[in-house]
Amino acid sequence: MFNKRIKVKELLQQAPEGQQVTVMGWVRTFRNNQFIALNDGSTNTNLQVVAELGKFEEGLLKRITTSASLKITGTVVPSVGKGQKLEIKATTIEILGDSDAEAYPLQPKKHSLEFLREKAHLRFRTNTFGSVFRIRHALAFAVHKFFNEKGFVYLHTPIITASDAEGAGEMFRVTTLPFENTPRNEDGSVNFKEDFFGKSTNLTVSGQLEGELGATAFGEIYTFGPTFRAENSNTARHLAEFWMIEPEMAFCDLEDNANLAEEFIKYIVRYVLENNREDVEFLAQRLAEEEKQLPQDKRSEMGLIEKLEFVLNNDFQRLSYTEAIDILKESNYNKKKKFQYPVTGWGMDLQSEHERYLVEKHFKKPVILMNYPASIKAFYMRLNEDGKTVAAMDILAPGIGEIVGGSQREERLEVLLEKMKAMHIPEEELSWYLDTRRFGTVPHAGFGLGFERMIQFVTGMGNIRDVIAFPRTPKSAEF
Ligand code: ATP
Ligand code: MN
Repeated sequence: MFNKRIKVKELLQQAPEGQQVTVMGWVRTFRNNQFIALNDGSTNTNLQVVAELGKFEEGLLKRITTSASLKITGTVVPSVGKGQKLEIKATTIEILGDSDAEAYPLQPKKHSLEFLREKAHLRFRTNTFGSVFRIRHALAFAVHKFFNEKGFVYLHTPIITASDAEGAGEMFRVTTLPFENTPRNEDGSVNFKEDFFGKSTNLTVSGQLEGELGATAFGEIYTFGPTFRAENSNTARHLAEFWMIEPEMAFCDLEDNANLAEEFIKYIVRYVLENNREDVEFLAQRLAEEEKQLPQDKRSEMGLIEKLEFVLNNDFQRLSYTEAIDILKESNYNKKKKFQYPVTGWGMDLQSEHERYLVEKHFKKPVILMNYPASIKAFYMRLNEDGKTVAAMDILAPGIGEIVGGSQREERLEVLLEKMKAMHIPEEELSWYLDTRRFGTVPHAGFGLGFERMIQFVTGMGNIRDVIAFPRTPKSAEF
């Protein structure tokens, strides 16, 4: 058996009592021809391995270079050096794979995030990305744990869809039609009857509509999968391929929906604080150092851990869109014309600068904005009594902006049909969706949480490209 090894994370929790162990990993540094810092990805903390002078051949020692992979057997002893309580006194050192130190792109020094993005295939081997992606894993696990404990059914909604009615964003077309001699109808339009599915299809922008079908049978479902938007937004918060978590609940109104979203966010944040302390502490330190470079007024008021604990211990601020517009209009910021988009008044769509003002300058905590004008929101959102707002909610997080978008859905068939007509959404195309309203309709609600934005929030990473393994953005699909 090859893999008879102890992981570094587990080993570091043991007491050094002269026990014999086998460890495997990659060399981070090799100092004084004697001290190997070995990392196996289970933790950021390197294991110190001591190759006693004179005990190993020169030829072997020369091959212990940055990123070479090693199998080491040895004895666990207390460490006399600073920074670690134990180390391994090597008995045997086997090189599993050499690494040409000259050619290896990552040097044992600090690289910029931009540089590492170009080397995204190797960046997992750095401390920062080690921590980010272990946290990403923990958050994903916590998402499933949360919903499983609540009895939600995990529903896999399709990646390829034929519905283009939702309007959440620009879509990527899925087709096998040839670019040359494309089959055409008499009027010159593309004949999708000849296409693979016999109709025009796209990559999904949201699993919500299918999710509603699940919720109106199982009661409560969630989806957690990739989502695609061909929007040309080159921001630090948009990807063309991102992961979204979309719970959908029957017998649920807007307030229940907001309560669940708040409980959910707190749950997964708490999970990471309790289970990934070392990684969060490392990233908190990284962020603090990064912020030292910034002018005073651009720095966060709280450290990363402080911010996360603050989120756990405080209620999210809830207010209506109408109240938000009043606050923005009356703000000194607006009066001094500091917004790029002036606050024109009720009915306007909020820009991210407005959202961030509310969260970061005014309330200084996560905000749940509710009851938006019907005209700026999707057709399926439930019309309120006032006849002009819908039961929508967005959750805005400090440093990120919108992190959740959700709503109570319009369960009244007639109201929904009227809305669709007004928004020119053909009824025939969504007949399957409308069946939920025809056969035992119920009040129901749900939301979508952008997984990468959530990871940004928890890790303090400023750019969304640094919290997904291989980012897809306009003009970039490497690896
Ligand atoms: P934004 O206004 O920030 O573009 P949106 O209104 O388009 O967001 P929704 O359609 O409500 O967002 O999607 C639900 C959630 O999915 C958002 O709250 C956000 O967390 C996430 N999200 C949306 N678009 C993207 C994207 N391009 N990349 C990463 N996450 C996204
Ligand atoms: Mn968008």
